[in-house]
Amino acid sequence: MSQYLSVIIPVYNEEKNIFPLFNRLKNELNSIKKSYGVIFVDDGSTDKTLFNINKIKNENKNIIIVHSTKNQGLSSALNSGFKKASGKVVITMDGDLQNDPKDIKKLLKKLSNGYDVVCGWRYKRKDSLFVKNIPSKIFNFLIRFLFNLKIHDSSCTLRVYKKESIKNFGLSEGMHRFIPLILAKKGYKVGEVNVRNHHRKYEKAKYNSPKRFFKAINDLIKLRFS
Ligand code: UDP
Ligand code: MG
Repeated sequence: MSQYLSVIIPVYNEEKNIFPLFNRLKNELNSIKKSYGVIFVDDGSTDKTLFNINKIKNENKNIIIVHSTKNQGLSSALNSGFKKASGKVVITMDGDLQNDPKDIKKLLKKLSNGYDVVCGWRYKRKDSLFVKNIPSKIFNFLIRFLFNLKIHDSSCTLRVYKKESIKNFGLSEGMHRFIPLILAKKGYKVGEVNVRNHHRKYEKAKYNSPKRFFKAINDLIKLRFS
């Protein structure tokens, strides 16, 4: 039987984050009082991530694990999760404890006000200023300027979607940063709400090379002229 909410969590070498994340998420989902399932997408982890999510699957109902033997990147991991999601409402979030499950209610509330997708806006970002925050501000400014999409945090994974909007969704490498724009271009109504953001306490950030920024700008230009 399919659940009302499907939560997709892509994880790549997040062994220390898995249990605290699941406990917080479970508490929050239980308080929402809708049926739910959680889809962990293990993106080729080489630590105990897969072992830990298997333990969660053995001890809880409605857990799906999608496992890739090699690391393929966040876009591919999200594609795999979207394929498995059967809920009327789909939620995506990072598996590193930087997103807070306590924001899910707020996102769902906005979704019920006539939106197809509601994105989190990490308005007080807890990442490094030069590697993440400033490049992100420039990137998001360009999205608003070039596409007139009123979004401030296009690459925040914490989002909620009506199932129809992500049906047959296929992101090519790196395009996870453009999900709000891709959906808006397809005619879906995209909104945003402020969400919390925490410092990464355990394990390492995977997306922190400066090359990432130039790839994102290049992709943005391609999208503008496509
Ligand atoms: N992730 C993944 N595959 C990758 C890189 C990252 O599944 O190749 C996951 C990662 O485990 C985390 C989320 O994507 O749950 C966001 O990654 P990260 O925290 O490193 O990105 P940042 O927050 O630094 O942009
Ligand atoms: Mg992170």
